[in-house]
Amino acid sequence: MDILKINQLKKVFSTGAEDLTILHDLNMNVEGGKSTVITGESGSGKSTLLNLIGGMDNLSSGEIYSCGFPIHTMTEKQLTEYRRKSIGLVFQSHYLLKDFSALENIAIPARIAGFDKKKALMKAEELIEKVGLADRKEHFPSQLSGGERQRIALARSLVNDPELILADEPTGNLDEKNSRIVEDILFSLVEEFGKSLLLVTHNLILAERVDKAYHLTGGVLEEK
Ligand code: ADP
Ligand code: MG
Repeated sequence: MDILKINQLKKVFSTGAEDLTILHDLNMNVEGGKSTVITGESGSGKSTLLNLIGGMDNLSSGEIYSCGFPIHTMTEKQLTEYRRKSIGLVFQSHYLLKDFSALENIAIPARIAGFDKKKALMKAEELIEKVGLADRKEHFPSQLSGGERQRIALARSLVNDPELILADEPTGNLDEKNSRIVEDILFSLVEEFGKSLLLVTHNLILAERVDKAYHLTGGVLEEK
């Protein structure tokens, strides 16, 4: 069964004088419990596509069904609920709260996701262990390495137990070794925990590791 299905998606940005079509009649699907990658050069439209799937931007035409929701017809309020309940987002930059500890950076979003104080802390403890950083709980982001910060960001994206994880170049700022650690965690979420993963990357090697690969060139998507 598809957790994500996109039909004839078009995205046009209007920039004053002209209309720029960034995504051209795009069709794709992500099967539940599988990993899917989208590769493509910088500027090919990868982030634009993920933002649309994440309900963070409006499409120009077409349909997006994600986690059972028709994203293209939903109100802002429904989209907020969808983001809160169904998806996990990981970005190239970690956006951690610099004045809070690693554990708090997970516990605070867990509170926002609806857990009471005690349960949020338990959830954060569980997730920090899952990303292998139980010994870094009290560290502040500035005291963590880039790879560790990204692992905390990954743990944070899991507080709502999302069905679908959308990861936009999550290893873009990391060296090879740390990229590998973050990738291993992402794939373990699929292999061990049955999550669905849509991973955007310009790392072509990763495409070998996934269940399904697409390539985006100038806003045109092709299955590989
Ligand atoms: P990628 O993530 O693959 O590097 P993006 O999706 O960020 O690519 O961008 C794709 C294209 O869309 C780029 O040419 C970019 O300049 C353009 N673009 C992105 N956001 C906007 C916007 N808000 N307004 C106009 N053009 C945009
Ligand atoms: Mg991008």
